[in-house]
Amino acid sequence: MDKTIKSYTRHNFRTIPQLASVSGQMIHEIDLTARVFPFKTNNYVVDELIDWANVDTDPMFTLNFPRREMLEKKHYGAVEKLVAGGQGNDALLARTVQQIRLSLNPNPAGQEQNVPWLGEIKLKGIQHKYPETVLFFPSQGQTCHAYCTFCFRWPQFSGMSELKFAMKETDLFLKYLALHREVTDILFTGGDPMVMSAEHLGAYLLPLLGAEYSHIRTIRIGTKSLAYWPYRYLTDRDSDDIIRLFETIATAGKNLSIQAHFNHPVELSTEAVGRAIARIRLTGAHIRTQSPLLRHINDRPELWSRMWRKQVDLGCIPYYMFIVRDTGAKRFFELPLERCWNVFRRAYRQVSGLCRTVRGPSMSDHAGKIQILGVQEVRGEKVFVLRFIQGRNPKWVDIPFFARYDPKATWFNQLKPAFNDRFFFEEHPNKLPVTKPFLFE
Ligand SMILES: *Cc1c(COP(=O)(O)O)cnc(C)c1O
Ligand code: SF4
Repeated sequence: MDKTIKSYTRHNFRTIPQLASVSGQMIHEIDLTARVFPFKTNNYVVDELIDWANVDTDPMFTLNFPRREMLEKKHYGAVEKLVAGGQGNDALLARTVQQIRLSLNPNPAGQEQNVPWLGEIKLKGIQHKYPETVLFFPSQGQTCHAYCTFCFRWPQFSGMSELKFAMKETDLFLKYLALHREVTDILFTGGDPMVMSAEHLGAYLLPLLGAEYSHIRTIRIGTKSLAYWPYRYLTDRDSDDIIRLFETIATAGKNLSIQAHFNHPVELSTEAVGRAIARIRLTGAHIRTQSPLLRHINDRPELWSRMWRKQVDLGCIPYYMFIVRDTGAKRFFELPLERCWNVFRRAYRQVSGLCRTVRGPSMSDHAGKIQILGVQEVRGEKVFVLRFIQGRNPKWVDIPFFARYDPKATWFNQLKPAFNDRFFFEEHPNKLPVTKPFLFE
């Protein structure tokens, strides 16, 4: 059966039929909180994923509808007061919202530093942090089928442009790749590149099949579409074209890896997602899965072991468990690092080796992807044992190192080195070296 997407934002969400059973106060709080956080959902999420009998605790409801508790009390109060004051406050409200957003660390982990240059031109749609992998943010892919409230990519969630611009952007992207023979992987990300039409996606992907890009072995596409709009691969107007595009890439001898974002087992439970996964797998593409660990959403080991098993059943490869980034509504979703490790290991020990392809829990920090290997006692001191899965400097990778145990810490920047006054990769105490080892060679 064909399914047409119907999107809901702050401006029309009151028309969602199921909201009739939700209190007026809660609807008011969603409206106010959504002035700060990006808010968009759709009919599939609303009809098939949310448990409307339990909106107070339902993970899918919480992931899609911003809750008052995601904002600091003083911020919520300020927005509430200005909105109650009526239209005369609009300009002040806009400024206040902007200030709140800026206070929520909208561009975490020094991403700006990863933007490379081609001669005199700064390549704004590209990030190149690790030598072998280039991230590309195609301009039409900077939105999503539905927004996760823990995401703070709102600077990106605006503006669609034309194919013409895409061609110009592709041109620079391709020139950069032709020059950088060390790159083996391209990761298309966003937002969600799978909101693009098959035509636009093809304009970016097909040139990579040319002989001058033989060093590019793998094309990855990061997407939430399997969880929030599986009809992208089933009944959308150009879903057959998408499937043919995937086949073309796989047949040309490149690895095509869909990096699918799933936060909860319920997202893997519908008939539509099962069919979409099967259809993608038939093209020769692989599907790898990843998710942050989120309080109120998936902070029990059993949910993760169930999720990984189901993914393997469906033919997907569990890939990453992330620690939620220090941005946006982190205060609502964050967990102490020790708790993250405990959720990971208690889930990991319950599953077969086929699920243990997953790595984590991992923090994407300025210096790299830092994995928590565990809490241990070394020479009478309780410490976190850590390692780089990826490092800004590749030489740092896979060397175990230690931080002082801290039961409250939720991110790497709160940790202090153990047995030393600096971490091994720091040149000076508390100062990270600014290395650009491969961008200008
Ligand atoms: C995670 C990540 C990658 C990909 O790393 P893999 O270990 O190859 O999955 C590339 N660039 C950035 C900036 C990343 O955070
Ligand atoms: S799908 Fe990804 S980019 Fe889109 S809102 Fe969710 S976390 Fe953000």
